[in-house]
Amino acid sequence: MITPRRTQLIRVPGLHAFRHVIVNLVTLTPEPGALSPEPGTLNPEPVLVVVPTRGAARQLQRALDGPDIVTRDELYDRLHDRLTKPPRRLSALERDVITQGAARAAAAAGGELSFQLRPGLIAEMLRFYDHLRRQSQQVKRFEELIDEALGLDDADRAAERLRKQTRFLAGAFREYERRVRDSGGCDEHTLRERLMAEPSADPIRHVIVTVADWIADADGLYAADFDLLTRIPGLEALDIVSTERVLASGFHERLHTWWPGLEEVSSPGVVQAFGPALITPPDASTDEPWWTLRDREEELVAIARRLKADKRTGDAVPLARTAVVFKRPLPYLYLAAEVFRAAGIPYQSSDALPLAAEPTAAAIDLVLETVAADFSRGTLVALLRSPHFTFGDGDADVTRESVSALDRALSQARYLGDLDRLEALATEWHSAASFPALHAALAAARELAPLATSLPASTQIARLLAFWSAHSRPIADDDPYASRERRARAAVVDMLSALTAVHAAHDDPPWTVDDVGIAVRRWIGEQTFVQQSAGAGLFLLDDRAVRYGDFDDVAIVGVIEPDWPERPRRNIFYPPSLLASLGWPSEKDRRAADDARFLDLLTCASRRTIVSTFTLDEDALVSRSMQLDEIPRARLSTVAGTPFDNARIFADEALALEPIALDPFEGEARVWAELRTGRSPADGPDYHGTARDVPARAWSVSAIETYLDCPFKFFAQHVLKIEEEPEDEEVMDPRRQGQFVHDVFQTFFAAWQDAGHRAITPENLDDARDMFTAVVDGALERLPAAEAGLERTRLLGSPAAAGLGEAVLRMEAERPIAVVERLLERRLDGELSIATADGPRAIALRGKADRLDLLEDGSFRLIDYKLGWPPKRGRALQLPIYSLCAEQRLAGHRGRTWTLGEAVFLAFKGPRRVVPLFSSAADRVKVLADAQQRLADTVDAIARGEFPPMPDDVYRCESCSFASVCRKDYVGDV
Ligand code: SF4
Repeated sequence: MITPRRTQLIRVPGLHAFRHVIVNLVTLTPEPGALSPEPGTLNPEPVLVVVPTRGAARQLQRALDGPDIVTRDELYDRLHDRLTKPPRRLSALERDVITQGAARAAAAAGGELSFQLRPGLIAEMLRFYDHLRRQSQQVKRFEELIDEALGLDDADRAAERLRKQTRFLAGAFREYERRVRDSGGCDEHTLRERLMAEPSADPIRHVIVTVADWIADADGLYAADFDLLTRIPGLEALDIVSTERVLASGFHERLHTWWPGLEEVSSPGVVQAFGPALITPPDASTDEPWWTLRDREEELVAIARRLKADKRTGDAVPLARTAVVFKRPLPYLYLAAEVFRAAGIPYQSSDALPLAAEPTAAAIDLVLETVAADFSRGTLVALLRSPHFTFGDGDADVTRESVSALDRALSQARYLGDLDRLEALATEWHSAASFPALHAALAAARELAPLATSLPASTQIARLLAFWSAHSRPIADDDPYASRERRARAAVVDMLSALTAVHAAHDDPPWTVDDVGIAVRRWIGEQTFVQQSAGAGLFLLDDRAVRYGDFDDVAIVGVIEPDWPERPRRNIFYPPSLLASLGWPSEKDRRAADDARFLDLLTCASRRTIVSTFTLDEDALVSRSMQLDEIPRARLSTVAGTPFDNARIFADEALALEPIALDPFEGEARVWAELRTGRSPADGPDYHGTARDVPARAWSVSAIETYLDCPFKFFAQHVLKIEEEPEDEEVMDPRRQGQFVHDVFQTFFAAWQDAGHRAITPENLDDARDMFTAVVDGALERLPAAEAGLERTRLLGSPAAAGLGEAVLRMEAERPIAVVERLLERRLDGELSIATADGPRAIALRGKADRLDLLEDGSFRLIDYKLGWPPKRGRALQLPIYSLCAEQRLAGHRGRTWTLGEAVFLAFKGPRRVVPLFSSAADRVKVLADAQQRLADTVDAIARGEFPPMPDDVYRCESCSFASVCRKDYVGDV
């Protein structure tokens, strides 16, 4: 039996009347058809007020203390609670898991699918099913409607594909419904059926609907919801409150389709005689009454300046009567934390931030990545270093030093991942400093290793949860972020626990870490995280919540495409033409409603409205919204805003603009500000790479060459002795490769000499080739197969090109003067006498020449192997300086003097293998003189402590691992 009820539509001219009517409906005992503006007693009957979002509910609660204000989902919760024996409600997670099982069963029963059943697709299927049911469609009817719309054309392959997809979807939906029934729980749709069939002993008697339908408002009610409210037993009064504009957008027509003869009343024109004034830019044209700013941050900065200016001119209203309105809360909430805090403007927001943006979510991602990357060095070290976890070796915590030592040791061992390899390395581990970290890494990897195998989903998630619980670092009570971190961790643990239980109960397919990662990341992505708001100050709201708030000033920000109007989510299964046959709205219907809501919003303030758009989102150009062209339809009076004065309102302005003011700072910030303002001038040498007290010592020539590349790189490497970050590469990194090639040539020439050979000549060239090949093959045995292939080709060549060995051997064979002795990897340490423009001087140096060939005629040939390109002659130092060192050190060797005859780079990159340092005697003199002067100048610069970064390109230089600390972007400033 249907309870007799009063159903009425209350039409209101705008949002002021909208709020006023809602308050009156709740605070007065309603008389059918009569709306007294007089305040009265609170309605004693249980009443529900339906609003779009929790944010909207909080705004309405500021004016209404008493009634239950609910969103659509909460409406079902309340009605469910009032059933005499309410069935268990299935959670979103349970429904998703049930759909996964149902989809796989339908796919298995229906033959091959043209798409894969990915988790994202399953979520879309469930969303589509919900939409169908909320549109009062049953699965059978859905199949019939699609079949009718597709017609009878059997030859159309696209139609056949859609028919097949429809059969699959219908099969999956039926299977889902069967599984829901078997679960003993209920979803929204089975609950709706039960609510209509089963009277409650304590029913809700009055419902006030303040949202439109889902076509006019994405958070609105559906046809099935309105149907429920029409038929649910016990409901005596149903009031629908809507603005004239939203009704005129098509909602009025749809309401009358559902309820022919619906009673209508218009609210008395109580509330506002005048709309707010629209504040335009000072020189705005009438057809562009909005503000255009550079980006979102500038929009908030402009609002902060305006608030401060109002305060100075006595034009301010209480902050809580001002709202900043956006379509989407992010990134405005993040920016507000910067901008309004810096300006000392308190603000409040009830919008939730994504849990995925919390550091806790990154920590769980790190665990999953460690397994997915097969316990690579980088991920293991990151896991051990993560502040979110704690790992022990026995009773002791693993220190950062131990983890750094492990990082180096694993890099040197060329560990690229794989637990078995880590176990094998551990049996012959020699790095004592890294033992604790190694043991912790091994223990963590052993705990997580089963995640990489295929096991039931519930087992895998439970394993992840166990690891998380065992290793989460305790949160200190005095940690300023303790409360936030606890809430984030609780959300993660709840999600993992629920996922484990739901899979164990409903669907437990075999999963690897990839599946676990997809599921966990997806559910973390679905969750939001309500931030703790100051509870006072300016309001930051979305456009749905502000409809329910009472504000004097409203600033609407971020009015760009595609936010205003918000693009509807696309249905991935059917084109709009087919969806129309299922009752889906047209784009025109939606757009009309969006424009109506925008016009309502423009008039919702009591005093002033400001609208702004911007041109740059990150680095991308964006377009203003076409909805801005609707502004004249709001018929607001316009007032030209005053230009901003140059008052300093931000903390950085207090410090950066003269005269510097420290008054805004207190406590630790004040101490820091005083310290910073008391420092030496910014153009002093200390700020531009000059260090003091650099210890005098004998530098190696290669280090001095590094200085010539970039003085800061030299400083980091050789003065601060910062170790470069090791890199994991499938093949040897350039440094190791250089070492390997040096070793090969050294071994070859040592073996050549030991075998009694001296010079390599055209006659013994083949012998030299054979011996070189044997040496290379012996060296390659120590390398992994893939690397060995690469190095073999590099050294011995291929049918397409000669190798490095051939270039080296030929170079010697083609030279007429025979070698009498080869000095390999010869140390040339000690004082070097050089000639400079200021006269002779001695410089202490260290160095090692790759190869010195002593020739029969008393000259020597100096050879420097370069794995890459040869250095530019203007920068080269090693070869000329080693030449001079060798001449001085070799005096008396074999009872005679030796003079430099030839100096060459054997370069393994570039157009030529053999690159001479000089080409003539005159050139030789100049090259050596320049090198001596360069050496003296460089050593003097080092002694003066001059280490400015010298990037190739100020912003892009990343040619070493000190790129993150070298402050190259200051080069050229002041
Ligand atoms: S990144 Fe460039 S500028 Fe910075 S230290 Fe390295 S070489 Fe110098």
